[in-house]
Amino acid sequence: MDYPIIDKPVPAGGWNLADYAAARRDFDWQQACRLLDGRPGGINIGCVATDRHVRAGRGAVAALRWLGKDGTVRELSYGELAAASDRFAAALQAAGIAPGERVAVLAGRIPELYVAALGTLKAGAVFCPLFSAFGPEPVYTRLSRSEARVLVTTATLYARKVQANRARLPALTQVVLAAGEAPDTLGWQAFLDAAREPLRPVSTGAEDAALLHYTSGTTGAPKGALHVHGAVLAHAWSGHAVLDLRPGDVYWCTADPGWVTGMSYGLVAPLVLGATLVVDEAEFDAGRWYDILERERVNVWYTAPTAIRMLMKYGAEPLAGRGFPALRLLASVGEPLNPEAVVWAERHLGRPFHDTWWQTETGAIMVANYGAQAVRLGSMGRPLPGVEVAIVRRRRDGGLDFLADGEEGEIAIRAGWPSMFRGYLDEAERYAACFAEGWYLAGDLAVRDADGYFWFVGRNDDVIKTAGHLIGPFEVENVLMEHAAVAEAGVIGKPDPYAGEVIKAFVALKPGHVADDALRKALIGLARARLGPAVAPRELDFLPELPRTRSGKILRRLLKARELGLPEGDLSTLETDSDSARS
Ligand code: ATP
Ligand code: MG
Repeated sequence: MDYPIIDKPVPAGGWNLADYAAARRDFDWQQACRLLDGRPGGINIGCVATDRHVRAGRGAVAALRWLGKDGTVRELSYGELAAASDRFAAALQAAGIAPGERVAVLAGRIPELYVAALGTLKAGAVFCPLFSAFGPEPVYTRLSRSEARVLVTTATLYARKVQANRARLPALTQVVLAAGEAPDTLGWQAFLDAAREPLRPVSTGAEDAALLHYTSGTTGAPKGALHVHGAVLAHAWSGHAVLDLRPGDVYWCTADPGWVTGMSYGLVAPLVLGATLVVDEAEFDAGRWYDILERERVNVWYTAPTAIRMLMKYGAEPLAGRGFPALRLLASVGEPLNPEAVVWAERHLGRPFHDTWWQTETGAIMVANYGAQAVRLGSMGRPLPGVEVAIVRRRRDGGLDFLADGEEGEIAIRAGWPSMFRGYLDEAERYAACFAEGWYLAGDLAVRDADGYFWFVGRNDDVIKTAGHLIGPFEVENVLMEHAAVAEAGVIGKPDPYAGEVIKAFVALKPGHVADDALRKALIGLARARLGPAVAPRELDFLPELPRTRSGKILRRLLKARELGLPEGDLSTLETDSDSARS
């Protein structure tokens, strides 16, 4: 590292178990990150991510390397990004946007999105990213609930998704178009030009609101999670310890900034740590993705199980003749990482995937097979130093029982880590219900082994109770995924008069495989042999694809609702075919 941001380095060669225990015991958030944003007492994500590098003489280093759909490449240095975000912040001030007010962006992954995000933070306003594939109704609900004052979007998205509802958004005083023109809006340049004065620095503190992120909506209606500027400590520390990001690294995060991963690790962490961020405007395409990894010489890559499963589905052919010698670390988040995927990556990309577990609510990685430790196949890893994680059971009286190693229970995190969400928008009771005895309850079930590694079981809502067993869908899906014909699998519980619930599996096949009765029998047989008859699926249906959220998570609640003929619930985040033609 040419200049330090983290006082406590990860030991070369990784932590052994004793070092790790000591690192966890001695960890102090305040000491761990020496973040200098130049304003006494204050901290501001936008400044830490850009201005700090300029002051350190790194202004000419590439901060963002944007790969347009049409092959255009645009590069912004740290100096340029600092200046552009200052300008956007000054324009917000000129437009009368006060600290704490919300600025939303509804756009694909275009450079303006990144400038607007950093500028909003620098102005002390709260940044609220909206995934560009949302339909008009979800866009309206989110803009309305967050009372956004400014929206940055494009003429096409505005016409399709905002214009008709504009009159129902009284708080929205300014719509800025990064591309195209429309009545009652301002062009990007005109908006910036309206700022006659330079940015008046805003002093934000660690507890000031910075980001408003909506959850994926996997288990129900999405929640708006509010995060603060101090979260950047956790982004910096986890980016360093887990993703092993170093100044000058080429780094690619495939998540869209409309989701928390695309913000925490697709913008904040890599910039704070001085990496060069690759941003791909296009959607998933196996050949293009391998091209990017190879041609851009990506050192660190952060993606999701759904993307890995898609790459695996296309097989070895698009990999022929390629090599990825620059790749140093691969990581994954969002869903359980199937052991198959880790082994596949080691074989085809030269490195294993490191699993990381966290949520919109946690703001940053909490548990991981991190860079400095060996990957334990099938486990999501261990808590980061500074993060205390326990396995608990809620008692009826509201208290917690702390469970022993090997016992299955809910993941709980001791409250107070810097990137902890500070509220659900307009849902104070729901927020309060997430905490007990000073611990945050994550709603996911897991087991911790004797070495302190955590093993994901399932979400509270997805766990299946059959014949006296509690079964996490992940366990069953993993076994089905081992079969060469299976691209992805989703498992649900179906009410049954005798067993309580029986397991039903939905399976999508890789190209070239036929969905027939023989294969159905073979898959159920495999599961019975591996898991025992009580835990194996009783029924199995083939689907061309499994329904998923736009952030790539299998929507088991929808599989279940459809199977049982129940109402489908909030589908605002369901991925649909129109997503591929979204801008
Ligand atoms: P909602 O809260 O609206 O139902 P969501 O929980 O899917 O949606 P996110 O915050 O985007 O919204 O996702 C966090 C969840 O994703 C975790 O609670 C967990 O269930 C799952 N998850 C994330 N990482 C992992 C992982 N490494 N292994 C297993 N599950 C993971
Ligand atoms: Mg959740």
